[in-house]
Amino acid sequence: ASQFGIDKALRDLGIQDINNGTSTGSSSFGSGEVISSHSPVDGALIAKVNTTTKEDYEKVMEAATASFKTWRTKPAPLRGEIVRQFGEKLREKKEALGKLVSFEMGKSYQEGLGEVQEMIDICDFAVGLSRQLHGLTMHSERPGHRMYEQYHSLGVVGIISAFNFPVAVWAWNTALAWICGDVCVWKPSEKTPLCGVACQNIAAEVFKANDLPEGISCLINGDYKVGEMMTNDTRIPLVSATGSTRMGKNVAQTVAARLGKSLLELGGNNAIIVTPDADIKMTVIGAVFGAVGTAGQRCTSTRRLIIHDSIYDKVKTAILDAYKQLRIGNPLDENNHVGPLIDTDAVTSYKAALTKVVEEGGKIIVEGGVLEGEGYESGCYVKPAIAEAKADYKIVQHETFAPVLYLLKYSGTIENAIDTQNGVAQGLSSAIMTNNLREAEHFLSVAGSDCGIANVNIGTSGAEIGGAFGGEKDTGGGRESGSDAWKVYMRRQTNTINYTTELPLAQGIKFDL
Ligand code: NAD
Repeated sequence: ASQFGIDKALRDLGIQDINNGTSTGSSSFGSGEVISSHSPVDGALIAKVNTTTKEDYEKVMEAATASFKTWRTKPAPLRGEIVRQFGEKLREKKEALGKLVSFEMGKSYQEGLGEVQEMIDICDFAVGLSRQLHGLTMHSERPGHRMYEQYHSLGVVGIISAFNFPVAVWAWNTALAWICGDVCVWKPSEKTPLCGVACQNIAAEVFKANDLPEGISCLINGDYKVGEMMTNDTRIPLVSATGSTRMGKNVAQTVAARLGKSLLELGGNNAIIVTPDADIKMTVIGAVFGAVGTAGQRCTSTRRLIIHDSIYDKVKTAILDAYKQLRIGNPLDENNHVGPLIDTDAVTSYKAALTKVVEEGGKIIVEGGVLEGEGYESGCYVKPAIAEAKADYKIVQHETFAPVLYLLKYSGTIENAIDTQNGVAQGLSSAIMTNNLREAEHFLSVAGSDCGIANVNIGTSGAEIGGAFGGEKDTGGGRESGSDAWKVYMRRQTNTINYTTELPLAQGIKFDL
């Protein structure tokens, strides 16, 4: 990997070697057992990180709650200025961080850079937003009264993130939470702990340069047990959790049991509907990038293509041709389209899905398989596969986090395709390929897609930060990033002020003394 400049990138990001874990201030590191981070690219040990013990966690929470008292009193536009500087720092470190994302997680270097670009974009968005944390004013029914609402900082926000977007998801949350006056405690995926350490180092530099406590941004490391310290903690009013539906159901129940708020961004089972009026060339680009980009490990990856029977063979042939051109290999090498899966457990799930679809009656039309030999020593490289299947197969209803695409056929009207598209438990991203206005508008109408994201003539993956991101049903219902997603990071207060010498009661109630 050194030929791709990984060693230099690690140095630039302050990751020398070991014991770089829990950080509440760079002086205090975790003291729990060690996680070794191996790259799925070549199997190499990149570095080790200590996990967070209960005692470490208490120190982190002390730092976070103390920092909140300072941070919340800074005017929001000044908090925005800090986020602006953080965005500048990310610009400086973009290549190094993009490389680490690619090396630790396995996505292509281009996608690693794209992830850092998303962090920069959300910082820019948050800077503008820091002057727009608007509440409404209302007309009071009582004379001489004024009524308005304002948004106040919430407190410590817990962030739990998945391995597949090891840096951007944190930034989506943290950039907004910071301008809202909150402080953040982040537990990255135990599969990508070094991305967490790198981001913490960058944030710490900015806070230090501004004489602010590093506790505004805290990092804890470990598996679900460390995550549970936050979900059980009444000092954390909001837990934002990104990951599998199974994880989200656990988090939701634990946080709800203490009446905390949770923001959930969970699994998807995303489909593209291809109607008789689709542009086939655009369909192929959207579907193939959606299915094999990030080796099928995006929450918005395309898992199902729902194709009208009148054009089924044409679309199938075009997609098969495109798959023949895919190059699988080291994601840091920009000639490759598809990198490795995150680990060998993911390879096992991928193989199991291919066995299952055949057992249920499906037909494999692009063979899968695990690659072996030079360049594939990590055992994590798999061939993107395609199966013809039926919508109600159990495996088609399930999110397999790997490059497996199911082709499904529909006949008749667009309503049939929409029924199939909506007929899964998840509700994240959806798309229609059509030049027919009626079909497109029907798909976007209340009787259309039931997902949080519905696109026309774009694939399912690759959202922009300006819109609210998230999905319905088993995807968890949360919204992050753009639009008014910031409101979840604040508490709303309604204020009524009486500037008269009378005390009239609301609803005209009489109470004479
Ligand atoms: P995962 O559920 O295995 O882990 C996600 C995170 O949750 C990790 O940090 C893990 O340690 C933590 N965790 C697990 N159980 C927990 C518990 N009971 N309490 C507290 N924390 C717990 O997911 P993964 O394999 O890392 O990521 C893949 C999944 O994430 C896919 O289902 C994908 O669709 C989903 N995802 C969704 C979005 C979205 O925005 N909707 C984005 C990225 C990934």
